[in-house]
Amino acid sequence: MDHPINSLGFKILNASLAEEHPERNGISTLSRRGFLLAATTLTSCAAAEPLKPRPAAAAAAVKTTTNPNYRTPSVQGPVPRNPDQALSSNFSKKSGITFTRVPVSGKFIAITFDDGPHPQNTPRLLDMLRARNVKATFYVIGRSVDLYPQIVRRTVAEGHEIGNHSHTHRLMTKLSDTEVRSEMSRCRDAIARAAGVQPRTMRPPYGGLLQRQRELVHSEFGYPTILWSVDPLDWKRPGPSVVTSRILAGTAAGGIVLAHDLHSQTVDAMPATLDGLLRRGFKFVTVSQLLAMKTDSATAQASANP
Ligand SMILES: [Zn+2]
Repeated sequence: MDHPINSLGFKILNASLAEEHPERNGISTLSRRGFLLAATTLTSCAAAEPLKPRPAAAAAAVKTTTNPNYRTPSVQGPVPRNPDQALSSNFSKKSGITFTRVPVSGKFIAITFDDGPHPQNTPRLLDMLRARNVKATFYVIGRSVDLYPQIVRRTVAEGHEIGNHSHTHRLMTKLSDTEVRSEMSRCRDAIARAAGVQPRTMRPPYGGLLQRQRELVHSEFGYPTILWSVDPLDWKRPGPSVVTSRILAGTAAGGIVLAHDLHSQTVDAMPATLDGLLRRGFKFVTVSQLLAMKTDSATAQASANP
């Protein structure tokens, strides 16, 4: 086998090392280091060869490495179950443009998962939700929906809600109105193609959307902008137990919990998180169901303090 890259890589590495460390003039040291680096590079290339090639788009969408050794920990005693509820998802367009929480009477909450679908983490999460009869809302990225439509179909089939999280996950405050419309409509169309449903609400990537843009997506797409009341900062990967304790500490009635099914740690945190919230008496509903049961604050206040 011919190795033209070998000698080329060797020369380039030597040159860049000499440039980075002009104070080190020991050529033989540089040569040795260059050779070691070149050899390492070639070794890892060779090791990568037997792996199945993945489409470039899939590689770009999947940012986490999954842990194939992870096993869902067994739960002590019976798993608590979210009560069955026949609730309307039809909220009034007049109910508001932006929500971080929803005033409701009763211990209802919505848990939301952003940035999926993910080929391993989302199905694993769906299993956990199904075991507890918990209905969640998934703010999906349109281009990932195009990659994994069957996961979105399963999500919908199991009673969860799909929300619009844009097509390419750009910071929308920097986008023109035309680009905002395109991000919303491309994601909406990907969801419709995959699962035959229309999203009812949207969450902007990074939570960033100008008031004027919120009004635009509300009037043109009918989407209220859904932010959150509980943020465990799970994307920083603080460890599953920290994710759980932050969510349990922060959740109150009418709350909207933010989490990311893109990250395996977040999914690892879910059995304890869901069970903890159920044992505290919270009842899980989708974001649209939560919006549909909105009381005006005065009514909620009156029923809380009779
Ligand atoms: Zn996101």
